[in-house]
Amino acid sequence: MHMLRMVSKLLAFSLLALVNTAQAITIFTCEPEWAALSMELAPGAKVFSATHVYQDPHYIEARPSLISKIAKADLVICSGAGLESGWLPALQKRAANRKVVNGADGMLYLSQFIKTIEKHKTKFFSTEHVHPAGNPHFHLDPDRVSKLAPVISQRLQIIDSGSRLIYQQALAKWQKNWQQSLQQWQQQAAQLKGQPVVVQHTSFSYLINWIGMDAIADLEPEPGVPPTMAHAQSLIADARQEQPVAILTNWYQNDRAARWMSDKTGVKHLNLPATVDLKGDINNLQRLFDHLLAQLQEAQ
Ligand SMILES: [Zn+2]
Repeated sequence: MHMLRMVSKLLAFSLLALVNTAQAITIFTCEPEWAALSMELAPGAKVFSATHVYQDPHYIEARPSLISKIAKADLVICSGAGLESGWLPALQKRAANRKVVNGADGMLYLSQFIKTIEKHKTKFFSTEHVHPAGNPHFHLDPDRVSKLAPVISQRLQIIDSGSRLIYQQALAKWQKNWQQSLQQWQQQAAQLKGQPVVVQHTSFSYLINWIGMDAIADLEPEPGVPPTMAHAQSLIADARQEQPVAILTNWYQNDRAARWMSDKTGVKHLNLPATVDLKGDINNLQRLFDHLLAQLQEAQ
């Protein structure tokens, strides 16, 4: 190859590398659903989730590895509404990253942009209650997710204005796909509407509400309080009488009470992921809703 051509090629290559490096922002999310959404809305970003689908996001340890991750973050995205109040403040404090302190552009609590449900369930004096500001598991409502994608995109455009166009294009593409999926989910939901279901914790409340199903019983006496035998026993009569579609648990829970109830009543026990599995097949929110609706339909 001609020397000059080679030099100019090398130069072009290193310039490209420089541009790419400048674009790669680092995003830390508290829950895997926001990591999955961020990967779609910020192509090229380095994305890390503090928790995974087999972990209870209400309770994790503020490990040193998480502190070093949040120390390097340009943007932190969390559900908020008190979900992470047991561990995120410790991470923020010890990481001492000014970009992601509360109130900074780099700290995004999504609960501030939507309304939470089940606020009335908060008992004033309960210390064990894990939903102080309403139910924080709102990623399981396709309509709320539709509202939150532009919120994330706008924040990306603020903290990384040089790549604004990339974020706008990514959002448009995501919205188009989401609208198509929504039509399919609405058809599936129509067939499940009005059907009773038993839950354990309010992990799936937003989805149940969106579909229009009826959660007739919760194996947890109160959000965050594990099922007791006495409480499960008290729900048996209702479950036998109403014959719900299924008893729902999620992947991080102990499902002993649900299996016991299933044995006693003949109602199917369904163990479903409460969020995306970044290392598995159900690795984005679209696939998660596809999976959840298909499983509920099958249980009917
Ligand atoms: Zn919860």
